[in-house]
Amino acid sequence: MRGVSECLFCRIVAKAVPSKAVYEDGEIYAFEDINPQAPVHVLLVPKQHLAHTLEVTDASAPLLGRLVLAANRIAREREVAESGFRLVLNTNRDGGQLIFHLHAHLLAGRPMGWPPG
Ligand code: 5GP
Ligand code: ZN
Repeated sequence: MRGVSECLFCRIVAKAVPSKAVYEDGEIYAFEDINPQAPVHVLLVPKQHLAHTLEVTDASAPLLGRLVLAANRIAREREVAESGFRLVLNTNRDGGQLIFHLHAHLLAGRPMGWPPG
């Protein structure tokens, strides 16, 4: 596992790597995905480094709830709350995870297929 200082999303949170900010508070940062898969494609990350959902503990579980609240807020601001959106957390290989800093994808602006690819 790479060190936190080498983690791309830790570097984005620290503003050492540029990103297009969407939302920020003391513990969450949201930014535009660099390779959007839908008209709305925002990534939400805890500022604290957690590799993926398997590292969520009782102590950090409320943070995940607040991440959902932030996603709801962004969905309303982008006016996709009523039409709908998909919130995705990929974990490990079969989940399709490429960046090992927990992040939620907020996808919206087109109908999402099911089952997912
Ligand atoms: P994963 O497959 O790990 O769930 O998703 C990683 C996401 O991070 C992908 O959607 C990818 O486009 C996005 N991404 C990768 N590198 C960067 C970057 O440097 N900046 C931004 N804004 N997004 C990135
Ligand atoms: Zn990180």
